[in-house]
Order: sequence, then structure tokens, then C-alpha cells
Amino acid sequence: MPATAFAGAHLTINLDAITANWRALGARLKGGALAAAVIKANAYGLGMAAVAPALHKAGCREFFVASLDEAIALRAILPEGRIYVFFGPSAQDAAEYSRHRLIPVLNDLGQIDAWRARSNAGEGEKAVLHVDTGMSRLGLPPDEVARLVAEPARLAGLNIAYVMSHLACAEQPGHAMNAAQLAEFKVALESLGAHTANSKASLANSSAIFLGPEYHFDLARPGAALYGLNPTPDQPNPMSEVVRLQGKILQVRRVDSSRSVGYGAAHVAERPSRIATVPVGYADGYLRSASNQAANQACGYIRGARAPVVGRVSMDMITLDVTDIPQAHAHPGAAVDLIGGPYPVDRFAADAGTIGYEILTMLGQRYRRLYVEDGKQRIAAE
Ligand SMILES: *Cc1c(COP(=O)(O)O)cnc(C)c1O
Repeated sequence: MPATAFAGAHLTINLDAITANWRALGARLKGGALAAAVIKANAYGLGMAAVAPALHKAGCREFFVASLDEAIALRAILPEGRIYVFFGPSAQDAAEYSRHRLIPVLNDLGQIDAWRARSNAGEGEKAVLHVDTGMSRLGLPPDEVARLVAEPARLAGLNIAYVMSHLACAEQPGHAMNAAQLAEFKVALESLGAHTANSKASLANSSAIFLGPEYHFDLARPGAALYGLNPTPDQPNPMSEVVRLQGKILQVRRVDSSRSVGYGAAHVAERPSRIATVPVGYADGYLRSASNQAANQACGYIRGARAPVVGRVSMDMITLDVTDIPQAHAHPGAAVDLIGGPYPVDRFAADAGTIGYEILTMLGQRYRRLYVEDGKQRIAAE
């Protein structure tokens, strides 16, 4: 798209803030513990191809992705750096891990067997052993850990770099699950001890870093906090803002009282109103659940003034009530803050009935994407 084309919205992604957040998280860890970067789902929607090299340049060497495909794509971007794959190998694709120098997370006895039996087995290639302590999603449940301990030949010759687990409720510091999972993780480490004597341990996601040093172990795996989401929802956000979405008003129209706005006539003006249309809709990840609701009404901000979303979010557009904003400010072409700045992504997420993770990973592809790096702005490569 030529730089002069009309852009209805700009999505600014601050890579300097991401690297600053990575450093700040690392600085919070107890001595000797490392911060990895979780960059699955295209770096939480922000663009792995831009985010991964920026983090690598900042000194990050441990990267986690979800799938093998993500890992192969990342290896093409990052010739160096350790790449861990949460989903782990199957008998069919185990050899791909060696080919691309990837480190699998082994989530059950089947994956352990597949990894041990892989063709062209490179001795000493690292793997991570995942024990489940309460997610019941991936990882070995306690009975499989017991079987491993009883049948140590299953681990023979494997180089388990880390034993890991994952917390279910880390963003709620008072939740009993945290201490319970920590205790269960320690029991698993203890019982595996003899077989994983050279292994390190990894438990913490973003929020767990803030639960205290006993949760840090050797390697933390933050994702959300790198991208500016608040890892401590009950406290002010300690992270730097990364994402800012600004739209431009396309049209402003007068609506008489009792006229309706948008699909389903879901909003009826109670007074003579001015309604601004902004060309961002659910096809752009502005979730339809942000349509005006009785509680938690989503909004945009025009020069710092709140303009509530009225009517339903359409595929390509939203409508904002700008009746209380001076006409000189709310006019076609005027900028509207939709996410970030006066309206933090976590607040928009709450008003749309979801969490910031979903907002980031749903961000659409129609925005003009701008990256800020080393204090300079550049337009993202198409
Ligand atoms: C996604 C994920 C993380 C990162 O979690 P955040 O809450 O985004 O910091 C860490 N570990 C595992 C196993 C994950 O799936």
C-alpha cells in the first residue's frame, strides 16, 4: 500500500517497549534466573518477524512457541537462539526438531517415546519435560510421573534441559492454586531428581514472576507482560505500553432523537445526537462483544474526551456518540484513540468482556502497522 493511501487506522507497536519490558522482567528475577520470551501466536499478534529479532538484539536467547510450524518459521528468522516448542513432537515429526535445531517440550509418555526413538537421533539434543500440576491440559499427570520414576529406561540417553510446569491462576496472587501447584511441582522435581540431576526448572509465566522468588526457579517464560498487558491485574500496570491503535473519523452525522443507529437498531438516540463513524470493525479484531452494553461500555477517546461506542460493532465500522465533544474536535479525519493511551488495552478488553491476550491476538491485518525501534518509526513490511 503506498504511504499516501488513506489509512483508516494506525496500529503502532513499540519494539523498544517490548525489549524494555523483557529487561525489566529479567531484573525482577532472583539471581541466576533467566527470562525467556514467549512469542507463540505470531508474538501475541504483534508480528514475530519484528519482535523476535528485536528481543534477540536485546540479549534474549530463549524463545518459546506453540507449534512446530511456528518454530520452523522462527528458525528462518533467527539463525541463533534456543527455540522451545510447547506442543512437542510426534513420531512423524520428531526428526524435524533435529533438522531445525528445535527443543521439544515432552508432554506425555508417548512424546517421550517418540523423542527417544527418533531417527537420526542426535545424542545430547536438549528437550524439556513438562509435568502437569493443575492445568490438566498438557504435561505428565502425577501417575505418568510415577511411571517415569519406576521405569527410568524411558528417559535413558535423553538430555532434559528443564523440567517445567504451568500455573493456572498466577494473576490472582491470593489464589490457593498457586501454592498448591508450587508444592506439587517441587514434589515432582524431587521424585524425578535422580533421573534429571542435571536439569534446571521452569514454572513462571508473566504473572508468576510477581508471585515472588520461590516461583522463579531457573527460567521464567513471560509472554503477556512483554507486550504490555498487566501481569498484576489488582495493581497498577508495571509494564510499558506496547500497542496503540488510533482510528480516524470517516463521517459525523446528526441523528434526531428516536432514530436508531446500526444493525438491529440496537441503539436509539435519546436526544439529538452527533454520531461519528470510525472505519474499524470486528474484521479488524475490534470484537463485536464491544457493542454497547449496559455495563462496561467500550469507548474511543478524542483529544482525551470519552466517546462511547453506541449501537453494534459492524464488520468494518463502529459508531461513537460524540454529542458531548466539541465539533471542532470531532470531525472527519480527526484521530480517535481506540486502544492504548487514555484507554489501556486491558480496560478495552474488560469492556469487551474478555482479556487483553485475546484483544492482541485478534488484532486485524487491515491496519497500517507501524513499528517503533531505536526511537524511530517504520512502516511494517507487507
Ligand atoms: C503462553 C504460555 C506462557 C506465557 O504466559 P503469559 O501469561 O503470556 O506470560 C508460559 N508458559 C506456557 C506453558 C504457556 O502456554
